[in-house]
Amino acid sequence: MSNHARLRTGDQTLVREINLSVIMRRLLEHTSLSRASLAEVTGLNKSTVSSLVQELIDMSFVHETGLSFTGVGRPSMMLGLNPRAGYIVSCELGVDFISVLCANFGGEVVWRVKENTAGIQGRDEIMHHVLTLLRQAVDIGATRCPGSGGLLGVAVGVPGLIEQATGTLLFAPNLQWRDVPLRDIVSAEFGGVPVFVDNEANMAALGETLFGAAKGYNEVLYISAGVGVGGAVVRNGQLVRGTTGFASEFGHMTIDPDGALCNCGNRGCWETLVSQSAVIRLTRQAISAGRSSVLEALAGGDLNNLSIPLIVQAAVQQDAVALSVLEAAGRNLGIGIASLINAFNPDLVVLGGILSLAGQWLLPTVRAEVGWRALRWNAEATEILLAQHGFDACAMGGVATLLQAIVLEPGRYHPQNYL
Ligand SMILES: [Zn+2]
Repeated sequence: MSNHARLRTGDQTLVREINLSVIMRRLLEHTSLSRASLAEVTGLNKSTVSSLVQELIDMSFVHETGLSFTGVGRPSMMLGLNPRAGYIVSCELGVDFISVLCANFGGEVVWRVKENTAGIQGRDEIMHHVLTLLRQAVDIGATRCPGSGGLLGVAVGVPGLIEQATGTLLFAPNLQWRDVPLRDIVSAEFGGVPVFVDNEANMAALGETLFGAAKGYNEVLYISAGVGVGGAVVRNGQLVRGTTGFASEFGHMTIDPDGALCNCGNRGCWETLVSQSAVIRLTRQAISAGRSSVLEALAGGDLNNLSIPLIVQAAVQQDAVALSVLEAAGRNLGIGIASLINAFNPDLVVLGGILSLAGQWLLPTVRAEVGWRALRWNAEATEILLAQHGFDACAMGGVATLLQAIVLEPGRYHPQNYL
């Protein structure tokens, strides 16, 4: 056979893979479409669409969802992504918690758990907990998602820099972990299935784009404010990663050159002003300076027990200290977000992380600050919303990461090809 003929066969296989992905993407965007409307929105001819759809039905990624009687003429059979195609297990490895969930191929969560790890010392011990919870989720998925293609993959989000080619965590400032081969560690436990490791804000941003507040937006800026401050940019449904894959580390922008020392080694990073610990530090300072607050009682008399949920509880009771601390945090958040809006001109900013629990107090200040500081033409084009999945945003993002990988390359990620 000539090279020419082999190339042509290769091209045809590639074109078919691309077209399978085009069908899957349309079904992900529109939830439900008929074969005729798929032909219309993709520009592919009807017989090609029918054959591609049949292949995806044979792979279990797509199923027929029932007849639609809405249009004129004969009712048409509708198609959608098949929730029973398999299940995905996803984990957020936070600085002081591990959050794990199991979802079916439709993104519906069938099980979730959150464990506090503040008392657990050492990387190996924490990784042991991560693997134990992931194994538990995999076993539960096998019983709660029966009749499916089984485990489609595992995703892990971490607050640090991930080398995409190897899935290695290069540096997590707030965990003080360096060079941890996370993907290899998780793959060794669940041999064969795809394992995705990414920065927590990247995952959360993708999750909000596929399943949450950012669905339907094209230029999304995601800010996650928790122990640290993470960020991500999603453009037309794809993460913007930068040259070496470490873009959007907004938490480490210098805001105050002579400010507090940050865990990254720099001084006055944005996250030293707006993270969970910054908010708690300000609260403690106010109370220690003699301001009275219900937080003393809520914390059981020990200010070491202060937490964002307690500060939110105090804000609900109109506590002056809690309200003023949240206003200061909102102002500092708004100062950074205004600059980012000027830099990226997004149509949406999504605020997630544990600080988003205080969203009803933070958002008005953030919006006011953006209104004053961002260029009017930029600010007017930008909505600012809270993450829809709140504390689950990263774990849901892990589900979105796998779902997007499968939708882009259904052949490559079909269970038959890696089992
Ligand atoms: Zn820093």
